[in-house]
Amino acid sequence: MSYAPFTPRPLPRLDGHCLYAETAHARPELPALREAAEADACVVGAGIAGLCGAIELARAGLQVVVLEARRVGSGASGRNGGQALGDFACGIEALERRLGPAGAERAWEISQLALSRLRERIREHVIDCDWRDGAVLAARGERQAAGLQAAMRHRQQRYGAEQLRWMGAEELRAGLLSERYAGGVLDPLGGQLHPLNYTLGLARAARALGVRMHEHSPVLSLRAGSGGGHQLACPQGQLRCRLLLLAGGAVPGLPLRRLQARILPVASCICATEPLGAALPPAGFAVCDTEFVPDYFRFSADGRLLFGGGAHWRAGRALRDPAERRRRLRRAMLRVFPQWESLRISHDWGGWIDVSLNRAPDFGRLGPAAVYLQGFSGHGLALSGMAGELAAQALLGGPGASPDFDLIAGLPHAALPLSALLRIPMAAFGASWGCFLHTS
Ligand SMILES: Cc1cc2nc3c(=O)[nH]c(=O)nc-3n(C[C@H](O)[C@H](O)[C@H](O)COP(=O)(O)OP(=O)(O)OC[C@H]3O[C@@H](n4cnc5c(N)ncnc54)[C@H](O)[C@@H]3O)c2cc1C
Repeated sequence: MSYAPFTPRPLPRLDGHCLYAETAHARPELPALREAAEADACVVGAGIAGLCGAIELARAGLQVVVLEARRVGSGASGRNGGQALGDFACGIEALERRLGPAGAERAWEISQLALSRLRERIREHVIDCDWRDGAVLAARGERQAAGLQAAMRHRQQRYGAEQLRWMGAEELRAGLLSERYAGGVLDPLGGQLHPLNYTLGLARAARALGVRMHEHSPVLSLRAGSGGGHQLACPQGQLRCRLLLLAGGAVPGLPLRRLQARILPVASCICATEPLGAALPPAGFAVCDTEFVPDYFRFSADGRLLFGGGAHWRAGRALRDPAERRRRLRRAMLRVFPQWESLRISHDWGGWIDVSLNRAPDFGRLGPAAVYLQGFSGHGLALSGMAGELAAQALLGGPGASPDFDLIAGLPHAALPLSALLRIPMAAFGASWGCFLHTS
């Protein structure tokens, strides 16, 4: 197998002042790869997808090495909104059109399994990450509320999602202390967590299973090795392996044109306020609205509002200028909570989302012994862990060994136009059913 190399234009760093980094559990500094090493399996990318894949491969008795360009959790996994959601970024309706009734039914089950596996992992590996039950998808207007209710009924009737519950405007107002929403769907199986501490917990679990992990080790090139294996080169070392899982997220990207061409990196930013104290609303659930560029927010374990999205910014100033970023986030936050005009924003940061053109996840094989995962499109906190496990099963058993992996891998994906390949940053993505509401 040959890998066509590709060097993308670097994206601006959106590290900012991240609350998660400040409240992260102690973590070891992991050494860069500085030798010519060998392993049964290599995982590129220490986000949720890569780490869950590494755990599964190590459990099967393989010697596993994880190569991470920066630090564990420095991609989307350690800086996201912390909302664990079922379904898919494109909405199950889009998958019904592509997979047919039986395929869509299984895809729905995979999305629900992703949520239950996430909870199991937290329990099994004793990960202290502030998990709380409940996520709400909220509609701003009456028309959208009607569409959302219809979408909820569809899920209840077709997929048996009886846990979903409608919350009227009054109930939301009382729970959130906001008049912004006409109604919403509560999924008690969804929830929220501290994403960096969850990711660091996965890394700890992987290391306990014998996985060797190297930070500051960007994979710069990939080649087919002798005997069907792979050769990977980092700045100061090389690795030969038999099995390969590529889970590089949106940035800085893997050096493969075939993968890069199908992903548009989209920026999303989050701010955190100072603790709300007595002003903290009673609702314990996370909220995402149904707009094409959604607002999403939740209240952290120490009582802060964490508010993301809401700004239709395009490249330029808003992404590069932290003051402008904060102003826009603040404006969006005050549209939902006008009563908090005087509340101080203590942190703000951003990250890059790996959006596929149709917002469906993009899994695939690059040969019998190499698989990749990408395209979670802003909806990967739960799904990427499940994807890592499915990818590992697909690698361990070879073609046909993981029908669930193959089902998602069978989804058609178009390559993006050249302008997108040149990485013109923009921010526009829809939440799952929100996307459905805007495209149907
Ligand atoms: C601001 C923001 C908010 C979000 N909010 C939510 C949310 O509330 N709910 C939700 O479900 N999803 C959300 N998401 C999406 C979710 O975080 C992702 O879908 C998920 O974390 C993807 O995990 P991953 O492991 O695939 O990628 P990542 O976590 O990005 O991990 C990929 C890793 O690979 C590394 N890497 C890349 N290239 C190389 C290379 N060449 N060599 C070595 N390493 C490499 C990167 O450094 C990175 O650490 C959000 C994303 C962002 C950015």
